[in-house]
Amino acid sequence: MLELQAITKDYRSGTECVHALRGVSLRFRDNEFVSILGPSGCGKTTLLNIIGGLDRYTAGDLLINGVSTKQYRDRDWDAYRNHTIGFVFQSYNLIPHQSVLANVELALTLSGVSRKERRARAIAVLEKVGLGDQLHKRPNQMSGGQMQRVAIARALINDPDILLADEPTGALDSETSVQVMEILKEVARDRLVIMVTHNPELAERYSTRIIRLLDGSVVDDTQPCTADEPQ
Ligand code: ADP
Repeated sequence: MLELQAITKDYRSGTECVHALRGVSLRFRDNEFVSILGPSGCGKTTLLNIIGGLDRYTAGDLLINGVSTKQYRDRDWDAYRNHTIGFVFQSYNLIPHQSVLANVELALTLSGVSRKERRARAIAVLEKVGLGDQLHKRPNQMSGGQMQRVAIARALINDPDILLADEPTGALDSETSVQVMEILKEVARDRLVIMVTHNPELAERYSTRIIRLLDGSVVDDTQPCTADEPQ
């Protein structure tokens, strides 16, 4: 459903040009749990942002359900970002003084969904991440692991086909990291999850596929033998 064909990304500033991606070709199935590993600056975030339609590629093609995005207009990218993609970041990006429920509902306020349905859907996704009893807490009263679960719930509110997570456990201790990974693994049962991580142990333990980048190129693409269950 998602395919990158020889994607390159150059960042230019003045006379400087950084080759952030140098011809990346990848094909993803509908329900994989993919970890992207590699040293700082190798292009992981750039790759995730291109897949998520947050950043445009310089050359190559991104195929969505077999359709080229070369002719995509702004409104096509908007629709893709809003309906196909969910994003989770290391820094949660929650509104600290609003309730958990409000934070998750907010993602739907511009979508034309009725207030009643917004609430019902927010409660459903919060239950899915194990926070059904914390609806009226505020993020500033929560632990990092709980905040990341709120952020995952928010990313799932539109039932996206693809969940992208940029170092979702980067700010968490190992115990809460495991809780978040368990949830992402569950989420990946019926959608594609692509995660950037600096933690090879978590990648080995939870993901069904590990892609290693080095200097803008894919250098390794394997299925860890230690993944809990074969998919
Ligand atoms: P990673 O996520 O693996 O740390 P990035 O995708 O953030 O790597 O960055 C890849 C390369 O592109 C790095 O050399 C980085 O400095 C450069 N880069 C990233 N974003 C920009 C930008 N907006 N402008 C210029 N260079 C950038």
